[in-house]
This record gives sequence, structure tokens and C-alpha cells, in this order.
Amino acid sequence: MEYVSTRGSAQENGSALDFEGATLAGLAPDGGLFLPSEWPQFSADEIAAMAGLSYVELATRVITPFVGDCLSENEVRALCDQAYGRFSHAAVTPLKQLDEQQWLLELFHGPTLAFKDVALQLLGLLFEKFLSRREDHLTIVGATSGDTGSAAIDAVAGREKIDIFMLHPKGRVSDVQRRQMTTVRAPNVHNIAIEGSFDDAQAMVKRMFRDVAMTSRFHISAVNSINWARLVAQVVYYFASAVQLGAPHRKVAFSVPTGNFGDVFAGYVAAKMGLPIEQLIVATNINDILHRALSSGDYSAGTVTPTAAPSMDIQVSSNFERLLFDVGGRDGQALAAQMHGFEETKAMQLTNAQREGASGLFTSTRCDPDEMSRAMRWACEASGELIDPHTAIGLHAARSTAIDPAIPIITLATAHPAKFPDAVERATGLRPSLPARVGDLFSREESYTELPGDYDAVAKFVESYATPVA
Ligand SMILES: *Cc1c(COP(=O)(O)O)cnc(C)c1O
Repeated sequence: MEYVSTRGSAQENGSALDFEGATLAGLAPDGGLFLPSEWPQFSADEIAAMAGLSYVELATRVITPFVGDCLSENEVRALCDQAYGRFSHAAVTPLKQLDEQQWLLELFHGPTLAFKDVALQLLGLLFEKFLSRREDHLTIVGATSGDTGSAAIDAVAGREKIDIFMLHPKGRVSDVQRRQMTTVRAPNVHNIAIEGSFDDAQAMVKRMFRDVAMTSRFHISAVNSINWARLVAQVVYYFASAVQLGAPHRKVAFSVPTGNFGDVFAGYVAAKMGLPIEQLIVATNINDILHRALSSGDYSAGTVTPTAAPSMDIQVSSNFERLLFDVGGRDGQALAAQMHGFEETKAMQLTNAQREGASGLFTSTRCDPDEMSRAMRWACEASGELIDPHTAIGLHAARSTAIDPAIPIITLATAHPAKFPDAVERATGLRPSLPARVGDLFSREESYTELPGDYDAVAKFVESYATPVA
């Protein structure tokens, strides 16, 4: 399996990468994102035969075609076994019924209580496996407003050949989120509380990726959702849940709380591989650039308004570029020009081909804070379920989209309600408690370094703890 860049250059100079290369690189050298040169296919019989498989077995079937010759099927199975063995539910991603048509797919049974664990637990193991074959060492540098940082730290803590430096804005992440990062004690984990906002922290990370003094000494890498291997891991639960509800003989729809468009793009990949999906509902909050793009073709970034669903508070959706490439005829040159225009003006218009290509499968809904709270109350009244603010936005979208009542709609439950106890309590009057397995979070010792909002101080800190590559 070969990987090409959405901006064209990888295929042009004949240097397409394999799965290992795409995983370790993250971003393509031309600034584009990697996609496989063609979509692996499953026949209806092969999908029918997935019924009743364990999550690990199903993951092995779905992931192996993307890996090509980089790993054997047995190696993929062993990695999935290790990654998903750490989940607290034997079904890994259990499905729950809310009413005749509405279902919840619980993706939050991993170590840090958000769906990002599903992808990052596997990515951490893939990094370690691939690095162990090379004389190489990764220095992961990231900025987090909460969920990604904790999931990434948990996934790489204690792994050889990887150091992780995670910046969070001091005093601006929740206590649960901070403790999920700072109580992980491993020599390769470095938490940095930075003076300033998330955007300030993010700007320092971006500067480090361009700082030749740093990039020439260290193999600096990222773990954000542009990494193709993360998306591959997410394709699995679309198959797992659809097959449980009768695929391939019966279609299903999905509603996906969306920020960077990674999770819902994995649903698109599942459809491309042959899974009969009726519709993918892109659920956004009031930061609705994707809703505007899908409903009117206007992809223009405004300023971010903070909400109770912080992981969806974004104005630029990096993975949307993958969809535009695939539905727009896979013309990397044209897309590179379109994306450069967007980077300059923060606005662009989708082409007719892109709009028509997306409208076949995608629809979108924007959810305001009142609608979010109502969806939390409805879930609680209809079935006694407490759901988090992100999931509530997905559920609102699912319930307000007209879909044939014979077709089940699966809302992806992306975070455990106890990660956002205040918002849940405000809407329902009930305060969700942390699951027993993380219950000692508040008695564990924290460790982090406080640094001023100054790039040189951060660079100096990374330099003194990271491992240089030859
Ligand atoms: C990251 C995240 C999302 C958004 O997922 P994308 O892949 O960025 O679209 C939604 N909900 C929660 C809880 C998240 O952590």
C-alpha cells in the first residue's frame, strides 16, 4: 500500500511512502496530508463474516490492508491486543440503545476517558515498533487544551526511543485534565505549564517545528490527528457497530461530534471500503465552519468562541483537506493552490465537484448551548444515560436529521461524562462520578515544570532533556 500527499508532490517525484514512512512522518513534506493511493475493499460477504468477531480480531482485519508489507497480520493482531487490552470494557467500544432509532457508541473506555485513546494507544505502539527497526528516536512536542495531551502521554509513557514534551496553558485546563497528564510518572514524559493561552503554547510548538537549530538535532514529531495511522484505528469501530446492527444487509447512519474532521473522515473511509452507510452527520457546535462549508460551500474561519465542548472549539479543520482531495478528483496541484489561498486569506469557496462529492454522504448540523443541554436531558429521561457535552451535540444532530426510521442512527460518544461534570450537572442535576479505575487521580502526586511564555525558555528545556539523533 502506497501513500500519497493531498498536495501532490509525493506522487510527482515518485517517492510515495509506505505505511511506516507515513506514520513516522505525520505531515507530508509538501505540507499536505497522507492518503492511501487507493481504498482497500471488503465484499458484502467479507463484511457479513465480521459479525461476532472480537474487537481485536475485527481491528486486525480492517487495519491489515492499510499496513501493506510493513507488518504481518500477526504483528498487527499483537499490537491491537496490547492496545485494546488496556480498555476497561471487554467489548472495547460497546453500543447502547437509547430508543427505537437512536444508539450510542461508547468510545471512552480507554485510560484517559476520551475517544482519542482508541487511536493513540495503537499509535504509541506503532511508533515504538517502527523506531525499534531504525537508528531513530522521536521527540514528540505538542500543545494541548486537554484531551489530546493526556491520551498522547498515556500512550507513549515509558516507551523507549520516544520523549514527549506536552505544553498546557497554566491554570487553563480542568483539574481532571491536568492531573491526567501530570500524574503520569515516566522518565520520557515532560509536562510543561506555560504562562499564556493555548494559542500561545500552540504557536511555540509550531515555531519549534520550523527552528532548524532544533530540527537538525532532534527528530521532532507530532501526534495530532493529521497522522494517518490514527485515522486507520478509528475506521474499526464504524465496522464493529454497523455489523452489530445488521450490516451489510441493513444500512446505518452515524452522527459524529466533529472538530478536526478526523473521526468523521474515518467513517468516510469505512464507506469507501464497502460499508453501507446511509449518511454521516457532521455535528458542530457554534464554531461551525464545517457546517457552513458543507451546507453552502463557504469555508471561512472566524474567531473561536469557547464552549462547554472544548474539543470542538476550532476554526480550521485539518482533516477536511483529505475529503476535499478525495471527492475533488484527487488533483493535488489544484488542491495545493486552493489550500495556500486559504492559508493566506482564512477563507475559501468549495468547488462544485467538492460540494457535490461531499453531499452524497455528508450532512451537517450546528448545535447551540441550549440544544446541547436539552439533548443531555433527553438522554437522561429517555434511557437514564448521562452523556458529555460533545456527545450531546452529536445526539442533538442525530435527532434533528430526518432519516428513514428503519435506519438506526449511531451517535459516537466521544468522552466520558465525568470529564465534564459541571456541564452535565448544570443540564441534568446529576453529577457524574469518575470511574473507579481513575478514582485515585486526585491522590496521585503531580509533576510538571512551569515556564514563562517565552520560546527560548521552552526550546532550552527541550534541548536539555531530549535525545539527539545522529
Ligand atoms: C477530539 C474530540 C472530538 C473531535 O474529534 P475530531 O476527530 O477532531 O473531529 C470530539 N469530542 C471529543 C471528546 C474529543 O476529544
